Amino acid sequence: MDRDKILLTPGPLTTTLRTKLAMLRDWGSWDADFNAVTASVRKSLLAIVHGAESHVVVPLQGSGTFSVEAAIATVVPRDGHVLVLDNGAYCKRAARLTTLMGRRCTLMPFDEAQPVSAGDLEHTLRGDASISHVVLIHCETGAGVLNPLQAVADVCARNGKGLIVDAMSSFGALEIDARKTRFDALVAASGKCLEGVPGMGFVFIRKAILDGCAGNSQSLAMDLHDQYLYMEKTTQWRFTPPTHVVVALHEAIAQFEEEGGQPARLARYTRNYETLVAAMAALGFKPFLDPAVQAPIIVTFHAPADARYDFKTFYAAARRRGFLLYPGKLTTLETFRVGCIGAIGPTEIEQAVHAVALALQDMGIASGAPARS
Ligand SMILES: *Cc1c(COP(=O)(O)O)cnc(C)c1O
Repeated sequence: MDRDKILLTPGPLTTTLRTKLAMLRDWGSWDADFNAVTASVRKSLLAIVHGAESHVVVPLQGSGTFSVEAAIATVVPRDGHVLVLDNGAYCKRAARLTTLMGRRCTLMPFDEAQPVSAGDLEHTLRGDASISHVVLIHCETGAGVLNPLQAVADVCARNGKGLIVDAMSSFGALEIDARKTRFDALVAASGKCLEGVPGMGFVFIRKAILDGCAGNSQSLAMDLHDQYLYMEKTTQWRFTPPTHVVVALHEAIAQFEEEGGQPARLARYTRNYETLVAAMAALGFKPFLDPAVQAPIIVTFHAPADARYDFKTFYAAARRRGFLLYPGKLTTLETFRVGCIGAIGPTEIEQAVHAVALALQDMGIASGAPARS
C-alpha cells in the first residue's frame, strides 16, 4: 500500500498533510508575496526564542550542517580559537567543519552517556586565554543527551567568550530564551522539531556582534553577514531560495502556534517519549542513557543480546509494517535509535512498538533484553 511510512528519525520527520499541501504552489523569489512569507517566518522564529530585542535571525539554504558551518564561518574571526564540548557524533562533526574552514579548533572530550560539564569548561577557559569561542550541541542527537545550555552560557558570559549553540534537534521543543541565556549564535533548521520539511537552516546572531562579523567568512555562500545585509536591504534571499521549504515552514509554524507553542510541543514529545520507553521495556528493551540525562527527542536502545538480531533485518521488518527506525551512532556499542519527534503522538508510538514486537517475532527473538554488562 502507498501509505506514507511513519519516520521515527530526527529529521526528515513525519509532517502533517497541511504542511505538505502548502508546497503545491510555485513562488517567484522576487515576488512580494513570497518575501512576505520569508519576513513572517523570520518574525515567528525570533518570537520563539524571545530574541527580537537582542538577536537577528538569518535563514540559509541547505541542510542543518550548512547553517552550523555558516554560523562558525561568520561569527568566528579567522584567527579565532574554537573549543568544542564533545560528547558525541554531532560535536565531532562541528569540530571537523571548524578545522576545515581554517579555524583553530580544540575538542574537549566528555563521556557520550553524560552531559558536558560547565564546571570543567570554566576550568579550561581559565587555563587557556587563546580560546575565543565555545561550541555546544544542545541535544546531542547521537545518543540523545541533553546538555546544560544555561550553565554553559553563564560560564561563557562570565569569561567573556563567544558561544555558538547547535540547537538543531531541540529548537521549538526545549525552552530556549534569549532574554535569559546569552549566546552569540544559535543554529536550527526547518525539518526538525518545528515539523517543517528539510531544506533550510536559520541562525540567530546577537545584534551586539553582528557588525563585527563583516569579512569573517572565507566562503561566499556561507556568509550570513552578507545574507543578512542583502535580506534587510531587498527583503529577498541572496541566492535562489528553497521556496517550497519556506512556505511549508510557514504553515508548520502556524500549526506550532495553534498547538500552544514550545510548551505544548515539549508536552507532546514527552508523552511520546514516555509511551515509547514504557512499551519497549515491556518487550525487554533497555535505553542506553540514564533517564536523568535523556532529552525527550530521540532514544538510543541497546540491541537485543539474542544472536539472531541484526539491525538490517530488524529495520526491514519494522519498515514492512510502516515504521522507519534509525541506526545507532555510538562508537563501541551495538544500538539503534527511535525518534520521539515529528507530527506523531502516543498512538503512532504504540503502533510503532507493536511493529517492533512483530519484527522480533519474525526474527525468532523472544526478548529485546540486551547483554548484561
Ligand atoms: C540534525 C542535526 C544536525 C544537522 O544535520 P543535517 O543532516 O545537516 O540536517 C546538526 N546537529 C544536530 C545536533 C542535529 O540533530
